[in-house]
Amino acid sequence: MKAKILTILTIVYFIGTSFAQYTLEPLPYAYDALEPFIDAKTMEVHYSKHHANYLNNLNTALKDTKLEYSTDIYELLNNISKYSSAVKNNAGGVFNHTFFWNVLTPKKDTKPSAKLLADIEKTFVNFSEFKTQFIKSGATLFGSGWVWVIVTKENELKIVTTNNQDNTIMDNSAVKGTPILCVDVWEHAYYLKYQNKRAEYLENIWNVIDWEKVSNLYEKAIVKYN
Ligand code: MN
Repeated sequence: MKAKILTILTIVYFIGTSFAQYTLEPLPYAYDALEPFIDAKTMEVHYSKHHANYLNNLNTALKDTKLEYSTDIYELLNNISKYSSAVKNNAGGVFNHTFFWNVLTPKKDTKPSAKLLADIEKTFVNFSEFKTQFIKSGATLFGSGWVWVIVTKENELKIVTTNNQDNTIMDNSAVKGTPILCVDVWEHAYYLKYQNKRAEYLENIWNVIDWEKVSNLYEKAIVKYN
């Protein structure tokens, strides 16, 4: 009896820790939903191949780690310096893509909340200047990475870029803060439709940003730091 209980407990322990897996979150819209700004083929390859690969590679890398880990991606990223670069790169890839899909929408003309708009105007003079700076940051990032809008712990809005699959919630990130918006500027995000014209891709993707979602994330980020 005792041995049986011990066996069951051991199995539960292994299911609960070593074999805990991350799962691929569904894309919140159809592959062609963001046409003509993001073409269906790019969306399909980006989600079903690139994003899915980060997810599979993360699970493989976690299987190899001797360390305990959380299946809460925020918690994993908050402790990412403890893990291998395979865990770091792929956990970043999983988080960044899920975040990205969720700040885009086929809904037309969503608007930032009064609070977000006022704070953007306070920080960047006006909304159009904010857009210009965001696009410029993304377009001029050398190599592969991401352009973000984050809220720092001083409650400031900032446009920043990260290399590769890094992000601002990783404990070893040079620049830290809570993301409220991001755009993927890896070539795989735009090359089929835009080839080398990254700035044009950024200009177009601006049409499908979900400002309601971004506003909600902003209000939560501010509460967190207040
Ligand atoms: Mn990507």
